[in-house]
Amino acid sequence: MAYLKFLKKIVFVLLTFFTFFLSFNSSAFSQIATNQITLLEWQNNALLINTTQKISYAESKLKDPDRLIVDLLNCSIENSDLNKRFKSDSDESISILRLSPTQVRIIFLGSASINRKSYLTNNERTLAIKIARIDNENERITENEKQTALEKYEPGNLKGIEIENDDDKTEIIISATRSIKYNTYLLKNPERFAIDLLNILPPENTLPTYMSTPLISGIRVGRAASGLDATRIVIDLTKENLDCDVDSSLIGNKLKIKIKVNKEKEESSRRAGIRVVIDPGHGGYDTGASYGGYEEKAINLIMAEKLKKLLEESGITVFLTRDDDDFLSLAERVEITNSIKPNVFISVHANALATSRKIRGVETYYWTSQSQKLAYYVHKSILSNIGLPDHFIRKARFYVIRHTSSPAVLAELGFMSNYDDRQLLTNKNTQDEYAKALSEAILKFLEIEPEEGSKKQETENKKQEAKKDKND
Ligand code: ZN
Repeated sequence: MAYLKFLKKIVFVLLTFFTFFLSFNSSAFSQIATNQITLLEWQNNALLINTTQKISYAESKLKDPDRLIVDLLNCSIENSDLNKRFKSDSDESISILRLSPTQVRIIFLGSASINRKSYLTNNERTLAIKIARIDNENERITENEKQTALEKYEPGNLKGIEIENDDDKTEIIISATRSIKYNTYLLKNPERFAIDLLNILPPENTLPTYMSTPLISGIRVGRAASGLDATRIVIDLTKENLDCDVDSSLIGNKLKIKIKVNKEKEESSRRAGIRVVIDPGHGGYDTGASYGGYEEKAINLIMAEKLKKLLEESGITVFLTRDDDDFLSLAERVEITNSIKPNVFISVHANALATSRKIRGVETYYWTSQSQKLAYYVHKSILSNIGLPDHFIRKARFYVIRHTSSPAVLAELGFMSNYDDRQLLTNKNTQDEYAKALSEAILKFLEIEPEEGSKKQETENKKQEAKKDKND
């Protein structure tokens, strides 16, 4: 609680329920299921369900006959092979039904089903429902205990919802007249977080309009779509990549939903939104420079594909103007690029000079002022990574860098007409070095840290070196 004192409470709303009935649009939840079942298996007297995403489910126990019903929400079962039946060790029959395109129902029929245990594992993508045998001890439940057990299932009422907002997180505290059992769902388009209070009756009155915070735009309260005596609270989120965690450890029949930005997810979607167009020069009948049995168009494509792979490993989105040996006009290259509106355009070429085979080195071209820094980074990176002579950064009116609306450079990676440069351009290892040099330059221009994997590797290497030093 001491930590609460440090919360800068910008918003604090205690809500009372007014006398309007809130009509609740459950159709807002009927959409295409985002989760899919990939495996249904009977193992060690337990049903194992694997899905592609985090599982949301609701359980209900029914009498006459004894049944346990588990509804997997926002989930579909596409593979009909999975649509099978199982029998438990204690002779329950377990059937799987596709209730709707977005809901799968699993029915356990038999008395032992009631005495079951379900839990999520595998990052909440596996649901295990274990059937226990009813042994003699369980049958000896006294009438008194039965009564208590029954009372436990009496639904409670919602007391209130409070919103607290800090700089970078919003907390929603739900209080009820009894301890709350719940299921949660994260819904997309628009982003919403829903929580079903399974044993709490929906309020008969509506609620005042909720204040918004930087992370939530509103809260709606109504009856849960399942039709049970359950309340659904929907929190409209202002953006993607929010973590919504439920803290049920609070005393006094309360739940706290903590909403905060998942920095890692936010960074990866930021990166995915960054686009780079790589233009492998020439193609088709236009071979580009041709020396020593090599054609420039093929070298350009190899370099471009290697570069694409590296940039994609850093989580950004990459396009090639051509990915095969087809001819593409300069105007077509520009048209493709301007329709993508990338953050960076790079045209990859190899140079040639018919009059002197001695001339070698790297040349980088740009035209617009927004491209100057990119040209500098690309040029310097090739010089320092490949170690070939500097043939200077130049401003030139090449069509593809003059007509693209993005920062754009044209890199002449070396002279095919020079023997040494040609070795560098055609050797598989130095081609990898070129791709690395170009990738580093582009990432630097985009202000993107190198991808996690390589950073980790570096730290690991440093650790190893430090260890070595100590040992020496
Ligand atoms: Zn060329």
